[in-house]
Amino acid sequence: MRATVMFGAGDVRIETLPDARTIEPTDAVVVVSRACICGSDLWPYKTMEHSETGRRMGHEAIGVVESVGAAVRSVKVDDLVVMPFAYSDGTCTFCRAGLQTSCIHGGFFGVVGMEGAQAEAVRVPQADGTLFVLPVGKDHALMPSLLTLSDVMGTGHHAAVAAKVAPGKKVAVIGDGAVGLCGVIAARRLGAEQIIILGRHADRIALAREFGATDVVSERGDEAIERVRELTGGFGVHSVLECVGLEQSMLTAISIARPGGAVGRVGVPQGETMPASLPAFYGNITVSGGPAPVRAYIEELLPDVLESRIEPGRVFDRVISLDEVPDGYRAMNERESIKVMVEP
Ligand SMILES: [Zn+2]
Repeated sequence: MRATVMFGAGDVRIETLPDARTIEPTDAVVVVSRACICGSDLWPYKTMEHSETGRRMGHEAIGVVESVGAAVRSVKVDDLVVMPFAYSDGTCTFCRAGLQTSCIHGGFFGVVGMEGAQAEAVRVPQADGTLFVLPVGKDHALMPSLLTLSDVMGTGHHAAVAAKVAPGKKVAVIGDGAVGLCGVIAARRLGAEQIIILGRHADRIALAREFGATDVVSERGDEAIERVRELTGGFGVHSVLECVGLEQSMLTAISIARPGGAVGRVGVPQGETMPASLPAFYGNITVSGGPAPVRAYIEELLPDVLESRIEPGRVFDRVISLDEVPDGYRAMNERESIKVMVEP
């Protein structure tokens, strides 16, 4: 089968590899109908050191179950399923608490040693706990929005939950990538009164407004902090969704949170330490978040997608074949595209 392998920064190739197959009795093999390229895939695309063996890429997919191991019970051949970016058994203490990204038998797709979803097929460990069977056919018009339940919509929702978004709250979203845009959807869905998007790309800002952003701040650093204060009566916001992961964005996040506010961070941190420890302390600001347990959120978000109350699939502005994936990385890296969908 064909699959995406990254061999180093800027070096993404489509390789012919052995077909995906079940290894453990709890595995399933999923033939990928739709996958996508993630903003987090761009970090290794910018920085990965050359590797002879490379790294399989892709952690978001919808597909059809082709085969299951002997111990798989709830997932059947021919089911259409969403594959969250982390696999999980669904039964351990953390899964039962709704934190599947900390599953004691879990892990992540598209990391060294694991298969990836930017491929014709993928082996899915812990199939019963990981896969969510969809109640629609694979050519359903809502496939792009359903695909976002594998990562970006669940991740934006997680940022909003971690930032304690609730009816009547003032919210800021840092980052206008696909996750930030889904964060705007999530904040509106949870009843935020004011949603300020911090971003500077015209096409993304326009979409953020359609998703429910009420204000736009395109400045950076101290000027951005000043603008958010102006827009919030001088105090800052109750909730900040940090969807970037850089030191500067985290510093901004804490600086625009009002005393007693909360920051929900879902951008993968690119630094070892957390900035703004002192202002966070003196403002009694909660800093929360991490890898989103998207598996826990699918059930809650699915009805809103199926009934078109939310349309997160609009973040996809380009559809490509598997052979075009290397160019898809380039397009997202150069901000030519917000998010690229792959139809293998
Ligand atoms: Zn578990």
